[in-house]
Order: sequence, then structure tokens, then C-alpha cells
Amino acid sequence: MTRVVAKFGGTSVGSPERIRHATKLIKASADKGEQPIVVVSAMAGETDRILGLAGEFGAGLGDVETDVALAAGEQVSAALMALALRDEGLKAQSVMGWQAPVVTTGPAGAASIADLGTEAFEALLADGVVPVLAGYQGIDETARIQTLGRGGTDLSAAALAAALGARCDIYTDVDGVYTTDPRIEPAARRLDAVSHDEMLELAAQGAKVLQPRSVEFAKARGVPMRVLSSFAKPGEANGTDVVAADPIAEKRLVSGIAYAREQARIALLGQADTARVAPSVFEALAEAEVGVDMIVQAQARTPGVANLEFSVAHRDLQRALDALMALPGQSDIRSETGLAKVSVVGAGLRQRADVARSLFGVLAGADIEVKVLATSEIKISALIENDAVERAVRALHSAYGLDQV
Ligand code: ASP
Ligand code: MG
Repeated sequence: MTRVVAKFGGTSVGSPERIRHATKLIKASADKGEQPIVVVSAMAGETDRILGLAGEFGAGLGDVETDVALAAGEQVSAALMALALRDEGLKAQSVMGWQAPVVTTGPAGAASIADLGTEAFEALLADGVVPVLAGYQGIDETARIQTLGRGGTDLSAAALAAALGARCDIYTDVDGVYTTDPRIEPAARRLDAVSHDEMLELAAQGAKVLQPRSVEFAKARGVPMRVLSSFAKPGEANGTDVVAADPIAEKRLVSGIAYAREQARIALLGQADTARVAPSVFEALAEAEVGVDMIVQAQARTPGVANLEFSVAHRDLQRALDALMALPGQSDIRSETGLAKVSVVGAGLRQRADVARSLFGVLAGADIEVKVLATSEIKISALIENDAVERAVRALHSAYGLDQV
């Protein structure tokens, strides 16, 4: 029997009606002869509400008691889902993280899964009972409740699918992964499939459909994932498969255009010895917990002197500048705000070095200045003016043929 882990996110269990609708999708899967295993998030808004309450007492994400409070959100929805499935005529039982057990390790509020027990699930499945795991939560080796970081129910689902040899269906409020944001480009299309790597790049670049850690996990363990809408009717076709790279890479060059607003650029001018300076710079930024992106080292006018440039999220800018100013010998630090990043993502880029050149051309043709350009294996990103981001997304989307079926 095909095992399917079906994960329902916050909006998909956001009300009794939504929970009831989810049970219809689960029932349809069981009627097809599949063996469903359900994983749920807290009801929409619940995690933020609980965080706010903990905040009233000065506790944030990362406090062990905050984790205990947060886990209650998923406990409620798992129990309600089990009740609703029962109402739908299925046998069902909730399973909390500590009962499975989902064994966690690492810091409170951002733990990872070290181990996941399958016995309880196997016993339920053998009895024809649908297990409903409370996502986002687990128990560490000292028997304390921990949570897995925001969006962590995706990780619970991927880990459970890996442990049970199941496919992992992620039901959410969109019907899949798009070639770009349909709010910017109405011609954006839903992709039938993306690779794990493409999904990671699209997610990191702002397309927040799946929690990146869950995709990394699925990739490492070879778990097939599918993103699909919980708002569809049972049997209605929709969704995007997140799969291993190879078959897709051969078919198309570019899969999507991602963007992120609120970026800033920092330039350290006149570095006489970048080989010595750069490590201390990036160490200081890492210590200040600033994520650095798009690093370039450019020759300055004076021979033997270079400029070191990189982009950071705007919200990290002040922290980055403070850390850099504390370094010895950094006298000329410049920064620029009001920037955005657009990225062309595609597994097919591995074979095609000329895309960087064509991207310059496309953006120049739309009168958009590229301030910094950075490439990785399957992604090319350009730092541009924030005002130009919508034009850039549209220009690139059409230049790489993404609006064509
Ligand atoms: N409820 C948690 C959150 O809102 C986990 C999840 O939904 O995946 O981040
Ligand atoms: Mg989510």
C-alpha cells in the first residue's frame, strides 16, 4: 500500500470548516487505497498568539518555556483533526511529539530532529487507524519539549515520511510552486515539478512555500515531496512535485524568478590585503549573526588595492555596520539601502555559463542597473534598485520563456 504523509499547514486547519475539508482529502486518499498519515500545524495565527503571550513575560523564541507553550498549538489541532477524521468515519488517533517520540537536539525554538520512533505509527497503521502527528514539536534527551523553528511542521512531515517510507504531501494555501510571484507577473505558471535544489533556492530567495530545512532533509533522504492546495476538491489536479534534479535539468534552463526586497549593500573600500582582511570581516559578521550574500571583490583604481562588497538584508544592516566598525583598520565603510535582489533559478543553469551575460542584457534592455551580480551552481542573482524589482521580474520571466506553456 502506498503510504502518504499528508501535512496540513495553519490555514489548512485554521477553522472547524477547514479541518473538515482536510478530512475529505484524507478520506479520498484512503479510498484510493493509499495509507494516509497526517501531520498538522497549529491553527492559523495560533503560534504568533502564543509567542505574544510569552513575550508579555519577557520570553521569546529560544526560551525553553516558550517551546512548551508553543507546542500546545499543534497539540490542539492534532486532537481536533483526529476528532474530525472520526466524524468522517475513519479511525484516527493523535500522536504528540513526545509519544512518537520525535527526539530533538539543539537549541530551544530551533531544534532539529535526531531520531523518530516508528513503532507507535506502525501499530496504528496495522490496526487501520490514521495517525495524526502534532508537527513542529519533539522531546530532547532530557525529556523537555522543544520546537523545530518557524515553519517546522514541514520538517516533521519530511522526517516522518522518511522514517515510514512514505511520500510527503504538503497541503497549503497555494496550489504549488510558481515560475514567479503571480502578484507581480500574472502570466506566472505553476510548475509541475522542481528539483530539491531549485526549491531551496526559490525558498531562500523569498518564495516561502516550504521550510528550507525540510527540503534539505527530503533531499538528503530522498523523500519525494509534493506541494498542493488544501482548498482544492478531492481528486482535483493541482500541485508541484519536488524531486531529484536530473530529469528536470535536461528539460529546461530556467525554472523560476525569485526576488527579495529590503536589501542593502556594504562596501569596504581600499583593502590592501583582502586575503588577510576578508576572513576577519566575514567572521565578525557571522558572530553578529548577519547573513551575507552576493560577495564580490573588485579591483580598485589604485593598483594592489581592492574593494570588498556584499549584500545583507536591510534589517541586519545596522548590526553589520556596528560589527565592521569595531574591526581594526576599517576606515572607509560605505553602505547603500533601497535595494532588491532578483534571482534566476534553474537546475539547467549548471550547463550554461552564458546566462549571466544574457541576464545583464535583459536588465539593461529594461533600463535596470545591475549593482552586484553573483552566481551559484543553479542561480544567478542581481542586486538592483528596489523600485525596479517588478520590472526586472517581468522582464526576466518573459526573456527566459517562463510565460510560455
Ligand atoms: N506552527 C508553527 C509555525 O507557525 C510551525 C508550522 O506551522 O510549521 O511556525
Ligand atoms: Mg508553513
